[in-house]
Amino acid sequence: MNEKETKPRRPLWFWLLIGLGVVLLLITLGTPNALSSGNEQEVTYDTFLSALEKGEVAEVELKSGTLYYVLKEEALPEASPTPALNFGFRPVVSTAKKGRTVYAVTAMNDPDLVNRLHEAGVTFSENAGTGNMVLLLLLQYALPILFYVLLFSFIFRRMGKMGAGGGLMNFGKSNARSVEGGQVKTTFQDVAGQDEAKESLQEIVSYLHNPKEYTDIGARMPRGALLIGPPGTGKTLMARAVAGEAGVPFLSISGPEFVELFVGMGASKVRDLFKEAREKAPCIVFIDEIDAIGKKRDGFGGNDEREQTLNQLLSEMDGFEGNSGVVVLAATNRPESLDKALLRPGRFDRRVPVELPDQGGREAILRIHCNRIKTEGPIDLSAIARITPGASGADLANVINEAALCAVRAGRHAVIQKDLEDSVDVALAGKQRKSMVISQHEKEVVAYHEVGHALVAAKQKGASPVHKITIIPRTSGALGFTMQADEDERFLMDKQEAFAKIVTLTGGRAAEALCFDSITTGASNDIEQATSIARAMITRYGMSEAFGMTAFEQMVNPYLGNDTTMNCSQETAARIDREIIELIDRAYQQATAILTENRSKLDEIARVLIERETISGQEFMDILNAPVALPQGEGE
Ligand code: ADP
Ligand code: MG
Ligand code: ZN
Repeated sequence: MNEKETKPRRPLWFWLLIGLGVVLLLITLGTPNALSSGNEQEVTYDTFLSALEKGEVAEVELKSGTLYYVLKEEALPEASPTPALNFGFRPVVSTAKKGRTVYAVTAMNDPDLVNRLHEAGVTFSENAGTGNMVLLLLLQYALPILFYVLLFSFIFRRMGKMGAGGGLMNFGKSNARSVEGGQVKTTFQDVAGQDEAKESLQEIVSYLHNPKEYTDIGARMPRGALLIGPPGTGKTLMARAVAGEAGVPFLSISGPEFVELFVGMGASKVRDLFKEAREKAPCIVFIDEIDAIGKKRDGFGGNDEREQTLNQLLSEMDGFEGNSGVVVLAATNRPESLDKALLRPGRFDRRVPVELPDQGGREAILRIHCNRIKTEGPIDLSAIARITPGASGADLANVINEAALCAVRAGRHAVIQKDLEDSVDVALAGKQRKSMVISQHEKEVVAYHEVGHALVAAKQKGASPVHKITIIPRTSGALGFTMQADEDERFLMDKQEAFAKIVTLTGGRAAEALCFDSITTGASNDIEQATSIARAMITRYGMSEAFGMTAFEQMVNPYLGNDTTMNCSQETAARIDREIIELIDRAYQQATAILTENRSKLDEIARVLIERETISGQEFMDILNAPVALPQGEGE
């Protein structure tokens, strides 16, 4: 993508400011007006006059409206300490030796003074101090001004987020990154899967290609389409692809960029954005993360700035007369938080869901990204797609990239299948921590724990087959993991399968308890997952006898994690908790039963795992299905 983005980042400004600040500080500390003696003292004019009359004044110097004078030796108290820093300002009074107090007094309009000084035999002079004076004035007056000018322009720049103009004052400008027509190189071919989304957007593309066909028949094009879906599913990519397909200019801005320090700026940015868009029509305006400005307005005062911005957006979207050729695309992963007014027909009337890819989609996405790297030998992307359920497009792109890095690290020139598989592990559990030293006992515990999961899974109907077991510690903190993978993607989970999942999750702890008679903290993640499945079964899936089909929890934002809110009486909540405890306990008993029954296999597989550190699902099944090797084993 060759989009020119003019973003002049200039840390120079910042350093300049800091530098100036420091200089100013030093100057203030250095008190340039003070004489080098460091013990200057301000006195009133009459003090000066009386000293003069008494004949105590030794020397006088007039300098920029101030009279500096020193007293004769005999009229002086004793010396005082070292001079302060004096950044090159030479002592103004030449006789101002160490310890002598220099008195300063504001000069008055006293034309007779010169005569009197002369009479008193005082040496006197006027110090024009040209060189120093100019510098002094500059430092005293010009520098602070310069400082503030720089400071403000720095702040303005920050607020303007260094927009395209790059000028000092660009608030209220939209800052949209604009790409001319035909410059966007992304097309629908770069977006794998997501066929339904592409289909809905295809119409917008063909409208932008040939608006006349639509206007002739009297059709009104949707003014906006809202792409909704979890993060990383390719919403931004898709919007770009629409522009690439249509070959029209593409103005893109992200929602948070509207949010400004000053009230009213967001609204003016919106106005500016749409003004630019109308000039460039037909074109596409893309507002990413629109939830930042499109949140529901509420009656409680709320955030004025955001509401103004939203109101402006609403009115701008109403504002294109008929078919002005401006199509607004927006993306969000929090559709439920958007204001209803945004979603009504005539604004974002088309919702385009961009969901997580299914197995086929994942394979297609992997293929697109895999084509960009060098590979060698047989590459089975469908195997990778199978072990990455729930991965988004961005995750998969990352897997491919990680594989390429992995190949480079291994000193190879092309990616092989193993790199891909390793990189899935990295995405799942972090990098291997080779340096971590684990005691033999802990290694055994981890091995039994993981084999516990695997064995329990293998011995249950409805549990996914084991794909891999490993006990190599990972940077995520996991000391090992068991990966399960379904042959085909599942979209429904029946009650038995849900329960089987919980049983499998409890298998790790059950194995520890069975074989070591002690339990460890290693099961905390399993416990968390088991609890959340059990809770969902009861409160959302209607899978408990006690409650039946009543929902007690609602998903809050389905695309961002699985936050839920409880919606039931305290009494019911307590009953739900008891149900959960009971369900998980039942699962744990079952897991223990399975492991007790297959104790010899558990020992055998754990031994192999400790030796090899990683075993594949196939190796696991081979050992499991082999006739019992040990005579003392209990058999199956
Ligand atoms: P979103 O905006 O939905 O959070 P992005 O569009 O920014 O996600 O996607 C991030 C990256 O993930 C893209 O740049 C692309 O490399 C990859 N990606 C996501 N979805 C797909 C897809 N369907 N096909 C190809 N690549 C994808
Ligand atoms: Mg995005
Ligand atoms: Zn576990």
